[in-house]
Amino acid sequence: QAYLRQTEKGRDLNAYVLETPEIALEQAKACDDRLARGEQARLMEGIPIGIKDLFCTQGIRTTAGSKILENYIPPYESTITEKLKAAGAVTLGKLNMDEFAMGSSNLTSAFGPVTSPWKIRDDARQFVPGGSSGGSATVVAAGMAVAATGTDTGGSIRQPAAFTGIVGLKPTYGRCSRWGIVAFASSLDQAGPMTRTVRDCAVMMEAMAGFDPRDATSVDLPVPSYESSLTGNIKGLCVGIPREYRVEGMNPEIEQLWSKGIEWMKSAGAEIVDISLPHTKYALPVYYILAPAEASSNLARYDGVRYGLRVPGDTLEDMYEKTRSAGFGKEVKRRIMMGTYVLSAGYYDAYYLKAQKIRRLITRDFQEAYKKVDLILTPTTPNAAFAIGEEPKDPVTMYMNDVLTVPANLAGLPALSVPAGLTGEGMPLGLQVIAPAFEEERILNAGYLIE
Ligand code: GLN
Repeated sequence: QAYLRQTEKGRDLNAYVLETPEIALEQAKACDDRLARGEQARLMEGIPIGIKDLFCTQGIRTTAGSKILENYIPPYESTITEKLKAAGAVTLGKLNMDEFAMGSSNLTSAFGPVTSPWKIRDDARQFVPGGSSGGSATVVAAGMAVAATGTDTGGSIRQPAAFTGIVGLKPTYGRCSRWGIVAFASSLDQAGPMTRTVRDCAVMMEAMAGFDPRDATSVDLPVPSYESSLTGNIKGLCVGIPREYRVEGMNPEIEQLWSKGIEWMKSAGAEIVDISLPHTKYALPVYYILAPAEASSNLARYDGVRYGLRVPGDTLEDMYEKTRSAGFGKEVKRRIMMGTYVLSAGYYDAYYLKAQKIRRLITRDFQEAYKKVDLILTPTTPNAAFAIGEEPKDPVTMYMNDVLTVPANLAGLPALSVPAGLTGEGMPLGLQVIAPAFEEERILNAGYLIE
């Protein structure tokens, strides 16, 4: 009830695409009844959460933030939401997001922008919560849900977490099932938890992780109790500081925060080592070739024939064209054009294939680094949240938001953003911890120490 009231109060933030209070109350009642019968509380028993609208929910509208799926009601449930419900979670509704998870601001949603609950004193401006999981970040930061699901293809859990002062974990690729999540770039997409604290993140991660035979890239490894790894003891751990992450134009306050983070780790007994990840400067261009390429292929299914929006036309071609013209927003169309271009016969070798090769080199950089260090510490973003209306107007400057987050996606590595401080004006900043594959416990423990 308290979270439903808070949701009502925060409605002007536009974080929900769909509120499902009746379902939430029914689920909460079922949890109460279980406990009354003396049954053991499950991992997420009675915990109210929000669901990013990229996760298919059976019988409940799922839009992916797009007009093309405005009236889409999935006949099946994503593995992640199924697992969370089976762990006792109470679902408050579906959360607003950048269209098809393409964006770093939540300004590309067909359902209007999401506003961050954070403001600067004596300043009337409203700020972006980041994206694409902007609705998820806002509901958690504003106390409208205890936690939320997010997805991270190139930073969409970590960047909004950093912008709103919450915790966000992108798990290792293959750790959480992608089944039933609307696909953006399948070789990069990964679901993860967004929470207020690292402990909450550990608990939710345990409920989400695990093998799923319905996802061919799901990895069959036992799921540890992430919560019990939170000792705060990092003595003897070797932490790498990659020099290439000192990118041009980084906000000096973020550089200072990074130095502070290094000091915190050092005083907790970690050894700090300067490292090099030499191919870092290629990560952003590689991402913006591969992600659109995969997206152009994944989005080919929205043709007005099988499901979603259909705008009638004189011929089949005409119907396709009218449907896709009306159904997709500007950023999505830009990605489809970039993707089809880099995959086209004449350019495949020059762009797509080349990017795949460099992706391998980026992965190798990390593998080399992890021969020497246990963890890597960097800022999550080069800047704090920007005001709505003051966002970068050209797409390439907007893409710079992702410069520190995309390398972990390209290499498939787990990465955590943890709130670490505020700018002089009082806006939140995050630090990022990146670990070798399947070492979520290690990053959660390091995050626990930082928060
Ligand atoms: N901002 C990035 C993009 O627009 C990342 C999106 C994501 O992680 N879903 O592609």
